[in-house]
Amino acid sequence: MDAHPLHPRLIKTPALRLESALALLRHSGYGEPEGLPGSEAWLQQLVDRLVDLSSRDPLTGLANRRYFELAVAREIDRVARSGESALLLVVDIDHFKRVNDNHGHAVGDQVIRAVSEALAVTVRPMDLVARVGGEEFAIMLPNCPAAFGPQVAERVRRRVARTQVPLQDNGALTVTVSVGGAFAQQWVRSSTELWMERADRQLYRAKAEGRDRVCLEASTVSSVTAEEKGMLYGTSQFQDLA
Ligand code: GH3
Ligand code: MG
Ligand code: MG
Repeated sequence: MDAHPLHPRLIKTPALRLESALALLRHSGYGEPEGLPGSEAWLQQLVDRLVDLSSRDPLTGLANRRYFELAVAREIDRVARSGESALLLVVDIDHFKRVNDNHGHAVGDQVIRAVSEALAVTVRPMDLVARVGGEEFAIMLPNCPAAFGPQVAERVRRRVARTQVPLQDNGALTVTVSVGGAFAQQWVRSSTELWMERADRQLYRAKAEGRDRVCLEASTVSSVTAEEKGMLYGTSQFQDLA
């Protein structure tokens, strides 16, 4: 008897090509879906696993840029509706090229993993940590009061600085990070790009001022750009009355 009898739907739709999806899941360490191949429950598991696979960074297991941007877009909607404050931090390892140059790419990868773990344990479960570039991370903190921002960003910076990455021969390596941050514009329907750009500008400032430091955007009200105002009023119910 066939170990995996096909569900009638699959027999009726022989055009459904699942082998490459299953091979990709197997290769990435995900188990195969359970149950009758081709059944609704089996296909749902397949989709769920593919979604998970396409949302994660393979080196660190953190959310990837694609998933992070989706989460940021959702948060922008929530902040625009609720007026709650949310903080976006971007975190970049300082002089990371030197780590690769001095210790090799494999140690570089180890450092990236260690930093990702340090970030993940520093924030609340409701916060989202992502690897958005080679040695660049981003953290979204929903419902983060303005007064709490500098504290949490500083906690992230300090936690990384005291993380020891053991070296194969002897000793251990430490790295520092620069952190830039910006709060979401409350009551404003902004865009993912603008919010990330504002946090990035603060990161560049932290780099320019000497690295191993935190720079947060000072005011959330005066820095609303004309484009952001346009987005608010462009989608506003008041426009319908005009
Ligand atoms: P700065 O303090 O200005 O950020 O300097 P930096 O050296 O960290 O910045 P730069 O952008 O010049 O270098 C980033 C390096 O990160 C270059 C690239 O080779 C390395 N890199 C990117 N992705 C990976 C990766 O996945 N693994 C390893 N080992 N290195 C990576
Ligand atoms: Mg760097
Ligand atoms: Mg970088």
